[in-house]
Order: sequence, then C-alpha cells, then structure tokens
Amino acid sequence: MEQEFFFPPCPSPQLFVARVLLDNKRDFLLDYFIPEELEQVITLGSYVRVPFKHGFGRGIVVEILEKQQSDRLKIITRLENQQPVVPPNLLKLCRWIADYYCCTLISALQAALPQSVRSDIKPKQDLLLTLATDFNPMVFRNEHKRAKKEIEALAYLQKNHPARLSELPQKTGIPRNIWNKLLRKGLAIGLLTEKKNPLPQPIFPNQTQPQHLTDEQSQALQFIETEMLKPKPKPILLFGVTGSGKTELYIHAMERCLTQKKQVLLLVPEIALTPQLWERIKSRFDSSYTLGCWHSRISRAEKAHLWNQILSDKIDILIGTRSAIFAPFRSLGLIIVDEEHESSFKQEENPRYHGRDVAVMRGRLEGALVILGSATPSLESYYNSLNAKYNLVELKKRVEARRLPQVTVIDQRRRKKNSSEKETKNAFLNTEELISSELKEAIEKRLEKKEQIILYINHRGYSSSLQCSSCGYVLPCPNCSISLSYHKIPAILNCHLCNYSSSVPIQCPICKDRNFKFLGSGTEKVEEYLSQLFPSARILRMDSDTMRKKGALEQALRAFSQRNFDILVGTQMVAKGLDFPYVSLVGIVSIDTLLHLPDFRASEKSFQQLLQVSGRSGRGSIEGEVYVQTRTPYHPAIQFARHHDYLGFVDQELEFRKTLSYPPFYRAIMIRFIGHPEEKVKYVADALTKEIKEKVENSLTLVGTPSPAPLSKVKGNYHYQLFLRCLKVMEVSQKLREIILDREEKWGIIVRVDIDPQDL
Ligand code: ADP
Ligand code: ZN
Repeated sequence: MEQEFFFPPCPSPQLFVARVLLDNKRDFLLDYFIPEELEQVITLGSYVRVPFKHGFGRGIVVEILEKQQSDRLKIITRLENQQPVVPPNLLKLCRWIADYYCCTLISALQAALPQSVRSDIKPKQDLLLTLATDFNPMVFRNEHKRAKKEIEALAYLQKNHPARLSELPQKTGIPRNIWNKLLRKGLAIGLLTEKKNPLPQPIFPNQTQPQHLTDEQSQALQFIETEMLKPKPKPILLFGVTGSGKTELYIHAMERCLTQKKQVLLLVPEIALTPQLWERIKSRFDSSYTLGCWHSRISRAEKAHLWNQILSDKIDILIGTRSAIFAPFRSLGLIIVDEEHESSFKQEENPRYHGRDVAVMRGRLEGALVILGSATPSLESYYNSLNAKYNLVELKKRVEARRLPQVTVIDQRRRKKNSSEKETKNAFLNTEELISSELKEAIEKRLEKKEQIILYINHRGYSSSLQCSSCGYVLPCPNCSISLSYHKIPAILNCHLCNYSSSVPIQCPICKDRNFKFLGSGTEKVEEYLSQLFPSARILRMDSDTMRKKGALEQALRAFSQRNFDILVGTQMVAKGLDFPYVSLVGIVSIDTLLHLPDFRASEKSFQQLLQVSGRSGRGSIEGEVYVQTRTPYHPAIQFARHHDYLGFVDQELEFRKTLSYPPFYRAIMIRFIGHPEEKVKYVADALTKEIKEKVENSLTLVGTPSPAPLSKVKGNYHYQLFLRCLKVMEVSQKLREIILDREEKWGIIVRVDIDPQDL
C-alpha cells in the first residue's frame, strides 16, 4: 500500500482554470481546468466545449483563475473558435446589460452573439466564374447559332470576369441554369470562394458628390473632432431639424475617425433606412475602406462571416440596426445613433435593452465618441443635454436655406355631420372623412405639377374593424382584446396582435344582418379611395403587407425615387429618414389613434411622428407643404408641430412629466404578469406587488398598484401590469431580480420586467 508522505511535501502546482458560462437558458457558471496545450489560446471570451452532466455543453469563458491541482475539476474538451468570440469590452457591456435590464448574463450574451457564431455555421460557398482559357467566341458562335442565351452569357463573362455565380442572374437577367450549363460544358471555370454579404442595392445612384459644409455644419464638425480626440469623450446630442445636413455631418465625422485608424458604427432604427443611407455613405469612401451592413434580414451564415471579419479588423464602417451595437470591434472610435428618438431601438423581447442607451455605455467602455442625432430628440436625451451629461450641438437651419414646410391642420370634426347625412347602409367608403376637400385639392395641384406626394396613415389593411350595421356588434379577435382588422385583397379578417386570421362572415353572428360597416381606415382603403379620386395617378402602397418579400422594399423605394409613382401611401415605413427631392406634399390622413394611446409618451410620440413625416416634404429645391387631418386640432402636440416648435413642446411636456414624476425625471419600470386564468394572474400580481412594496418602496422608488394592461388579453393570455418609478435603477433592478427569481415556474405565470419601457 502506497503511503502519502512519500510525495514531496511542497504544495501542488498552480493550474489555470476557466470559469465557463454555459450556453443555456439560465446562468450556469462552472469551473474547468484548461488543458496545457490550450493555455496560450484560451482567454476571456473564448467559446469552448466542456463536459457537462452526462454529455457535453458549450459556453463562454468569463473568468480565468488559478487553482490547486488538488481541486477536482473536469477539463475543457476543446476550443470551438480560434479567436475569442467576445472581446473583453463586449463582455463588460453584457454584464452591465444583465445588471441594468434585470436579465441573466447568458441572455445578454445570447443577444450579443449571433446564433450562428455560437453554433459555428460555415459561410456559404460561391463560385467565381471565368472563361475557359481555350475558348474562342467566334468559333463558338458559328457552331452554336441557336444557343443565344449562352452566347450572351459568354460575352458577358468575357468582359466581366471573374464574376460571382450567385450575383450573375440578377446582374445580367440570364437565368442560373444557363451559367450552370457553361460550367458543365467546360466553357467556363468556377473557383470556389466564400459567399459575399449581399449588400443593399443602390437606390440613388447619383448622390456621390462630397459637399462643402455650411457654417453651422463646419462648427459642429469642429466640436465633434475636438471631442473625438479626448480619451473619454462625452456623448453629443446632435439636434438638427430635418434636412439640416446631419447625415452629411456623420460622413465627415466618419472620415475623421477613420484617419485615426479607428472604426465606425452607425446605428439606424429601421432596415428601410439602410439602402438609401448605404448608397450615400458608400459612394463617399474609396475602396481602401470596407463597409459592412448588419440587420435582421441577413442570413445566419452571413452574420457569422461578418462577425469574424469584424473580429479580425477587416471592417471599417458598420451600418446596422439595433443589435449591431454588439459588433465585436476592437478599436471603435465613433458610434452614431441616427434618429435616436425612435422606439424601435428598444428590444421588445428579453433582454429588453435600449440600443441607444447601450450605445452610450459601449462608448464609455471603449472611449469612443457617441453621437445621437435627431430632429426631434427624445425627452430623455434632451434632458441629459440640459444636465450636461451630453453635449448639445445644434443645426438650426435647413441646407441652402430651404424652408421648413408649411403645415395646415384640418379639423375633421365638422365633417362628421356631413358624412353621417350621406352615409348609406352599406357604405364601403366613408369618403368624406378619409380625405378632406383641402387635402384633395392640394394633391390635385401637386399632381398637375408632376411633383410627388406622401400620405401617412398608421394602420395597415382596409379598415381597423368590421361592425354590424344593425346591432353594432364588432368582430373581435378570439385571443386578444382588440377588434379584427379587415383586409380587402385578399379578403380576410386579421388580428394585428396575434396574427389570427379568418374568412369574412356573410352575416353578423349575433343578429344575422348582412350589412357591415368598415370602421377606421387603413392603407388599403386610402389607396382604393385615391385611385377613385385620381384615376390617372400612379399609386404605391408601402406597408408590411405589400413589402413582405425580400427586396420588395428596396425595389419600391427605388421606383419611387425614379418617379415611377406619384403618390406613396404607407404606415410608419414612409415616415422616417427617406430623402426624396421631388416630394412636395405630405398628408397625414390621421394622427388621432396615436395621440390618444394610453401611454405617457403618446404626446411626445405623436409630436415626433408629425415632425418626422413633415420632414419628408420640401427636401429638394421645391418648397414643401403638409396637411394634418385630426379631430383634436388644438392638442399641444399638433399645435407645436405646426410651428415646428420643438423647444416649445419640450418645455411644456417636461413640466407635465415633472409634476407626475415621469421620465426623464424618474426612470420607469413596467412589470407585466402574463398567464391564465385571469384570477391567478391577478392573485400573483397582488401578492408580488405587496412583496415589492415591502422590499423596494421608499422615497426614491414609487410603486403603483397592479391593474389590467390596456390590452388586457393577448394571444389567449391575460396581462396585468405594475408601474414603478425610481431614481436608482441598478438597485431596484437587483432587488426585483431577487424577488422574482425562480418564482415564475412555481406559479406558472410569466413575470416580465421592462426597464425604461417604450411602449406601454
Ligand atoms: P438630415 O440628415 O439632417 O435630414 P441630410 O444630410 O440628408 O439632412 O441633408 C439634406 C439634403 O441636403 C440632402 O439632399 C443633402 O445631400 C443636402 N446637403 C447636406 N449638406 C449639404 C451641404 N453642406 N451643401 C449642399 N447640400 C447639402
Ligand atoms: Zn389576436
């Protein structure tokens, strides 16, 4: 029998141990020894495979420690990616997100790291085509007279080679099978290569000239430059009216940043904005800089590819939507958040982070300058500039002294009487209400002048509900507490919350009458009515129904910019960022639903929406005008928007928010209780509120009372909500986590914490 004291009496050697956060539903931290051969390569942020339970798991190394050999730990099986997939600053950012937004670290990391990076999907392959060397076009032409398409394809290759097989059909109009034929016959040679990111197609091919900056722009640029060179730059709120040249300024700031050998990240609220912006920016940087484009529509393999390119410093400028904020840049110099007020920067699922606020945090961690740009800054950002947390830089004038559009408010109340007189029993179109005579005349005038028109309405479909003309019954969604929207082509009823669809009933399910009224208007109805009013006008409808197909949006924007259409009718999609110089009239068919939402931001959002849509008008040399139709013409949001008076609006709105201790004075937290049956949801909401009050409520934290949410039933589940306001989010967030942790499963209902909620 061996005796222990035979071993030398020195302590066992130190070994490196990795603390691994498993890629799991919850935060699972386990320690593993790092095998000797991987000691040099495994670091923070490495993605590894480890023994777990009876099998294996994957995870991210979040800490490296030293331990005694005598500790009994399992050993890391292998390294999944050669490079660490999460740079250290990104790891820190995710830690902050977990603490601030009351979520797990793994869910923050999962939001940051694309699925395809974690599961190591290989980029798709493509072929680079060239002509076979011994190919003689003359001989081929004589021998194969009838193979017209093939000859065409060969002629193309002769001039343009090498060419990517994946791009050829679209570029040439010659179908894929012809190219494959060339390969099969040995007339062309294919070289295997990685598939490229499909880049946005150009919309404005001619926006390429660099601009001489205006005085205002030059001053702003100087300020930006000075701030950028500081080791800890303070974020800049760039408040510039629509068309004041903010985007132009971004481009100049980017140039400055690139000359410092640092990288640039530009966040945009919506993919709809990327193609136009992309083209404009791309045309301004020569080929020594590489641009990348990041959004939800690029494929998983492309995301993984782009991620790795960024990790290895091959991308200089990245333009993308919300999640691009996690791009693994290693020397980021500038982060721009365009249209920073947009609520689409807020993620509506776990983790419920706000892209703009995460951008500010990321900037702080990287020592990068953050520019938040908007013509209608959020009250939060504006308030931060008043408090000197941000620097305020203003562009007060439109470029070339173009005037802001004249806004006319049309009071729709008086029209109601007229229309009810005329209302027939089966009025398909309650037309008097839809487009007022003033707006109609304005459209006519612009059409005559061959100028373009944008009409905005914030509902898609034909009508927002279907009501029985006899008994007044409105067809509801069986799963949600809203009415079903009516869509005319194809004819269906559809719930815009849960997407439930059904055919249109022939008769009222209650009284069996066969006549229905179409209440509330959507894009489809406006389009139909316009085509009756202006039969020769070319009308384009843009909403999530018509723009579903990949590439449809780009195509539509291009067609409109080439003036193949006169009128663009659409939802939010037409409201933001678009720059069409021939648009001289914008009509807001109705703003009222937005104005009266049960949300403390309803007024702010309506004001922003009004100014943003208005800003689409008069951007070129033609002077623009705007018509707003409403039943509450004296609402402050409308009156201030009419005079383009942001500061006036903000003064009044801040006063109101202060009185009620709402953001930006207090931070808001919304807790949602979701499940069924309703009694159980209510019971849990009451019980948890009691506990939250005991543990959290104090002079800095105000806890409300639980109540049914405005949409009290969604997808068959009941929603209750509890509204909190506080000054110290981090503290409250930690306590909420402790209170709620593991309770959900016990009760079988979902408790969702939303910090800084955007849509109530
Ligand atoms: P914003 O982003 O503030 O809406 P843009 O940068 O899109 O403004 O500018 C509005 C329009 O004015 C664009 O068509 C742009 O090309 C043009 N523009 C911007 N800056 C200048 C400038 N310094 N000189 C001439 N035209 C400019
Ligand atoms: Zn529904």
